[in-house]
Amino acid sequence: MATALTDKFSRLVKQMSGQARITETNVQDMMREVRMALLEADVALPVVRDFVNRVKDKAMGEEVLGSLKPGQALVGIVNRELAATMGEGVSDINLNAQPPAVVLMAGLQGAGKTTTTAKLAKHLIEKRKKKVLTVSGDVYRPAAIEQLKTVTKQAGAEWFPSTPDQKPLDIARAALDHARRHYFDVLLVDTAGRLAIDEVLMEEIKTLHGALNPVETLFVVDAMQGQDAVNTAKAFKEALPLTGIILTKMDGDSRGGAALSVRQITGVPIKFAGTSEKIDGLEVFDAERHAGRILG
Ligand code: GDP
Repeated sequence: MATALTDKFSRLVKQMSGQARITETNVQDMMREVRMALLEADVALPVVRDFVNRVKDKAMGEEVLGSLKPGQALVGIVNRELAATMGEGVSDINLNAQPPAVVLMAGLQGAGKTTTTAKLAKHLIEKRKKKVLTVSGDVYRPAAIEQLKTVTKQAGAEWFPSTPDQKPLDIARAALDHARRHYFDVLLVDTAGRLAIDEVLMEEIKTLHGALNPVETLFVVDAMQGQDAVNTAKAFKEALPLTGIILTKMDGDSRGGAALSVRQITGVPIKFAGTSEKIDGLEVFDAERHAGRILG
């Protein structure tokens, strides 16, 4: 992993590896580099502070002090803590519910909800052998409903029609009823987003949540949003009992610091990463690999 770290960081590691003992000054220097790397990756400041303090506490403990190679030990702690904070292990979509299992997609407009809904449909069909229905509750943008129809077809799933003159709640109820009567395993509900958080949007999605009782409520967030992702995550976390995160546009050139921020703020696992605009551009989120990218 050491190769993935910044040059300065690696130099410090080398310096420290030659030393029999690690000093508080060494740790401080290393932590400064870690802090810089995280800020460069666009991790939100309070999250950076928290993270650095946790690593410092661990580093000043036995783990590093008693180690033969303190530099490497410290890098190990940073990487492990980063991966652990972003979640370890694979966590697929939870379908542990009386079918149809409802999955509610939440997030700002442009985050990638509609695209991701279709990607998830394809994943559930191909990897989990499920019968999947999608529906759009975005009555404000007729184009969004059409978009979901198109991508749902590409995914090989079925699409439940909705129109802009309907109420989102009525659409959701009708779709759920249809899914029940036609023995669908999963109902994926795409929702309306706004360019920024707004009260009406939040009330609407809360109502949808209450009526649908979803087994998964997924927060879809654009990795390129960087620090702004924190405020969005906070607002959605306050409005809804989120169960997971999908980080989109990971193919972009961001260092992906949003992952750490969003995970820390919401406390729920990052389940998938969007890696292209295409329907198959969805990967199970790999926290360890992502830790390497953040420290880049
Ligand atoms: P929504 O408003 O949240 O439903 O967002 P959309 O699904 O319409 O996506 C907004 C834009 O982001 C579209 O141009 C998508 O093709 C694009 N997009 C979504 N996910 C990804 C991704 O993982 N990578 C890339 N490169 N583009 C994505």
